[in-house]
Amino acid sequence: MTNVNMETIVSLCKRRGFVFQGSEIYGGIGGFWDYGPLGVELKNNIKRAWWRAMVQEREDVVGIDAAIIMNPLVWKASGHVDTFTDPLVECKNCHHRFRADMLKSDACPNCGVRGTMTEPRQFNLLFKTRVGPVEDDASIAYLRPETAQAMFVNYRNVQESMRKKLPFGIAQIGRSFRNEIVMGNFIFRDREFEQMEMEFFVKPGTEDEWHDYWKETRLNWWKQTFQIRDEHIRVKVIRKDRTYIEGPDPDDVKSEVPPHYSKGNYDLEYKFPMGWSEIEGIASRTDYDLSAHQQWSGKDMTYFDDETKEKYIPYVVEPAMGVDRAVLACLFESYCEETVRNEKRVVLKFPYALAPYKAAVFPLLRNRPELVELARNLTRDLKTEMMAMYDDTGAIGKLYRRQDEIGTPFCITVDVQTLDDHQVTIRDRDSMAQVRVEISQVKGWLLERVR
Ligand code: ATP
Repeated sequence: MTNVNMETIVSLCKRRGFVFQGSEIYGGIGGFWDYGPLGVELKNNIKRAWWRAMVQEREDVVGIDAAIIMNPLVWKASGHVDTFTDPLVECKNCHHRFRADMLKSDACPNCGVRGTMTEPRQFNLLFKTRVGPVEDDASIAYLRPETAQAMFVNYRNVQESMRKKLPFGIAQIGRSFRNEIVMGNFIFRDREFEQMEMEFFVKPGTEDEWHDYWKETRLNWWKQTFQIRDEHIRVKVIRKDRTYIEGPDPDDVKSEVPPHYSKGNYDLEYKFPMGWSEIEGIASRTDYDLSAHQQWSGKDMTYFDDETKEKYIPYVVEPAMGVDRAVLACLFESYCEETVRNEKRVVLKFPYALAPYKAAVFPLLRNRPELVELARNLTRDLKTEMMAMYDDTGAIGKLYRRQDEIGTPFCITVDVQTLDDHQVTIRDRDSMAQVRVEISQVKGWLLERVR
């Protein structure tokens, strides 16, 4: 990461089609963002990498895709209807509203006047909606504020249909909604966002071991998947009695308590320009949720252990991350500015597997139909296996810079010599080194590197 600020990333994202302000032509709407053609590819690649590590490559985790709207009793049982709140304060001078726990002093962050804040009141973050044609209290439903509850509610269905034995996990990727009081920091805190959560059901008494296991596993996943340098990622350990840091800047920490459902949390934090901020939470949720659902639904949530002949409600360890925060961390970690032959070059050095486009193909001369045809055919062939694009709308240097800025790992040029030797030039995004490769071998050559 070059020392890059948020404005640079926001403007690159808009200019190159990663992220647009939601409903921009109407002046936008706070906390909602639209992913553009490049953003959707990056996001899909991140989701694919997570699903692969958390579901596909594991014997002990399976996936689901549940409805966003659930029976409202789910949110009564989970505690969200009564306690999913943030402390809201309002400045009596300028009437801006803030989260009390986020204020750094008694001065209003908007107008600067001191001592003008109201007493905090608890503000519930659930988005309410109505189901069906009758507008009465019985029709109230909620847009889910987390995906986790669908795993608890479906725990028996999944366990029985897949004949799973403990320990096992259920994973899901999906949208969540929170009526956050304060936005800011681009896609870091949104009112609509996407989560990737996994509930891992374990035998009571083994939860601490599994909590540590998932901390290590998830930390390594972040480091490997995004190639995050050690000095940019750390673990905040939140226990009932103390909060401390494993990793860089250990003194930069405020004391916290775990959420009501958790006996302890590991928060993975990334060093964003606005400071260390959570990208994933790994909570030790005990039997809090399954017990609550057993009580509210009247359905048996116990597990019969074949080996020990015991019956118990499983404990749960939950790694929960946000896709949007991962996109942001990935952009910061990959952003580089370099000087090449006295010219500034902006490169997104995405890990190959995450890059929106894997290859771009150019004819060296766009007025030579034979070159154009070869380049178009090659692009068409590559597209059967990966995201690739054809471009002939500028000089080669300009085309390279355009691809560097969106992180395309390989640029392929068809030139006059290609007509004789059937080879093309492949240029590497990071080293800018060039190699000649036989046209018929290009697809295989790329697949070996970008998969
Ligand atoms: P924060 O303290 O930052 O509000 P949280 O502790 O409430 O986050 P969790 O409930 O643990 O977050 O959710 C798990 C993950 O979901 C977070 O690590 C984050 O990546 C993501 N997430 C939560 N809230 C938002 C949001 N408003 N916008 C984008 N991502 C979010």
